[in-house]
Amino acid sequence: MTERLYHTDSHLTEFTARVVSVNSLDENRFAVVLDRTAFYPTGGGQPFDTGVINDARVVDCTSNADDEIQHIIEGEAPVTMAEVESRVDWPRRFDHLQQHTAQHILSQAFIKLFDAETHSFRMMDEYSEIDISLDSPSDARIKEVVALANEIVWQNRPVRVHFATAEEAAQRGLNLRKKSKRAGKLRIIEIEDYDANACGGTHAARTGEVGVIVVRAWERAKGMTRVEFLAGGRALRDYARANKAARDAAMMLGTPRDEAPQAVARLMEENKNLLRRTHALEEIALRIEAQELLAETKSNDKNVRIVARVFEERDIESLKRLAHFIADSTQCIALLGSIENKTARLIFARSTDTNYDMNNLMREVCAQIGGRGGGRKDFAQGGGQARDIHHLGEIIESAKRHIQD
Ligand SMILES: [Zn+2]
Repeated sequence: MTERLYHTDSHLTEFTARVVSVNSLDENRFAVVLDRTAFYPTGGGQPFDTGVINDARVVDCTSNADDEIQHIIEGEAPVTMAEVESRVDWPRRFDHLQQHTAQHILSQAFIKLFDAETHSFRMMDEYSEIDISLDSPSDARIKEVVALANEIVWQNRPVRVHFATAEEAAQRGLNLRKKSKRAGKLRIIEIEDYDANACGGTHAARTGEVGVIVVRAWERAKGMTRVEFLAGGRALRDYARANKAARDAAMMLGTPRDEAPQAVARLMEENKNLLRRTHALEEIALRIEAQELLAETKSNDKNVRIVARVFEERDIESLKRLAHFIADSTQCIALLGSIENKTARLIFARSTDTNYDMNNLMREVCAQIGGRGGGRKDFAQGGGQARDIHHLGEIIESAKRHIQD
C-alpha cells in the first residue's frame, strides 16, 4: 500500500520517497512504485497528476487493487530501494483542485436549493460535467445555484480533511452529502458549515482558491440534468474566448458587444424580407424569360413549340421553375439543361395538352450520358456527364428530334 501524501496535504508538491519496485514497460517507459507519493492517480472522475521522479517525466499514474500507486515514467529508471526526489506539476494540480472543489460546492448548492443529488462527475481537459437529479432545470434555477456557489467561494471558507467513520463524523455534526460505498474509516472533506462528503481527490485549502465557478451549458441527459461547469483559471480562459467571439461579431456588425444579439436579429429579419422580395422578382424574371424563349421558338408541324436550351452553371431550382413557366403555356415542351464542371443537369416538362412521355425521354437521354433520371409523364429531371456546353446542346437537340420523329 502506497502512503498517499496528498490525502493530508493537497498543496504538497515536492517530496522524497523510497523506490519499492520498478517494472520495465519498454525501452524508455517504466512503472515505478514508491513507499509514499504526492501524485494523484486517475480516479473518482479526476485525472492523474504529472511531474518528475528524479529527472524522469511522470506521464501517467494509476492505482491498483492492492492500493499501490503506479507512476508511469519516461526517462531514466530509478533503482529499487533508492531514495528519489519528486515534484508534482503545480499548475495542473492547482487546476484540478479548483475544478474538484468547485464540484463539491456546486453539488451541495443543488441539494440546498432544489434537493437534487449529484450522480456522477467527470473532469475533462476543457471543462467538467456533473449529472444531477434535477427534474425541471431552467436557466433561472441554474443561475440561483451558480450565485450560491460563488457566494461560498468568496466567503473563503476553510476546507478540512477528517479521517472518521460515517457515524463518528455524524457525532461531530458532519452529515455526509452522499452515503459512501466504503465501510470503516473514510476520508471526509468538510467545507465549513456547508458541506461534508467522503472523497479521495485533491481539494483547495479554502474555498477562495477556487476563484469563480461558471456553468457554461446544461442539458437533459439520461433522465438527469447534465451540467457543464468551469472554475478558476478555466473560467477565466473561457471568458476571454467568449468575450473575443462576442467582440469579433459585434465589430462586424458595427455595434457595442452587448447589443450584438439584437443587431443579428435585425439582420436576420432584413434578410428574410430581402429573400422574399428576391423570390418575387425572380418569379417575374422567369415568367418573362419563359415568354421570350417561347416567342423565338417556331411551332412544329404538329403545332407544338419545343424550347430546347442549355445554360451554364444555372442552379436546378431556377431551371425547374423556368421549365414550369414554359409548360404553363399551351402546346409547349421545355427541354432544359445546365452544365457545371462536366456535370449535366436536365429538366424536361410539357404542357398538359401535349402527350409526349417526358419520363421515357429523360431515361433514354440519361442513359446516353451515363447518368440517371426520371419522373412523371409531364415532368422529369435527371443528370449525367457531358464534355461541355456544346456536347450537352447536341444531346438536347437529339432529344428534340426524337420528339419530332
Ligand atoms: Zn472531492
